Amino acid sequence: METKQLMEKAVKFHGHSCPGVATGVLVAKYILDHDNEFSIDEELVAVVENDNCSVDALQSLLGTTFGKGNLIFKDYGKNNYTIFNRDRKKAVKLSAKPRSFGDRELSREERIQQLLNSNPEDVFEIKPVEFKPPERAQIRESIICENCGEPTMSTRIINYKNKKLCIPCYEQLKKE
Ligand SMILES: [Zn+2]
Ligand SMILES: [Zn+2]
Repeated sequence: METKQLMEKAVKFHGHSCPGVATGVLVAKYILDHDNEFSIDEELVAVVENDNCSVDALQSLLGTTFGKGNLIFKDYGKNNYTIFNRDRKKAVKLSAKPRSFGDRELSREERIQQLLNSNPEDVFEIKPVEFKPPERAQIRESIICENCGEPTMSTRIINYKNKKLCIPCYEQLKKE
């Protein structure tokens, strides 16, 4: 698919046009252009190192979403994207090149156009990486928080003063 069409689809999902979503479109374009290695019909996992607008392009174009558990967010504040294909045991990492985000003199609209006219290789350092995908999300039992009564994933329950508490209740009660 052409970059322009990918952008249209991503903007529809994201709600506005911006340089962030254009950046994510280039990530998705690289993956879609390498469908011999990363077909979206196979089991893809995206590990992203930011939670900015770009991630919505991956959700809408690659089908890597929070709900399905194949979108993993690491809060590193970097425009890095690692895509794994569980079926073929392949992985590739796209890391934003330092200069690609430095054009401060461009307007927002010019920046979007510049990105959309670029190849993924212009904007990202692209390298195959070792196939070490994140573990699959497990379904864990729920425990009732003894303060608010809401069922809470057992791994998020904190024992505090002999009570099993969810995180917000713990944060609240420890202040009292
Ligand atoms: Zn945006
Ligand atoms: Zn609670």
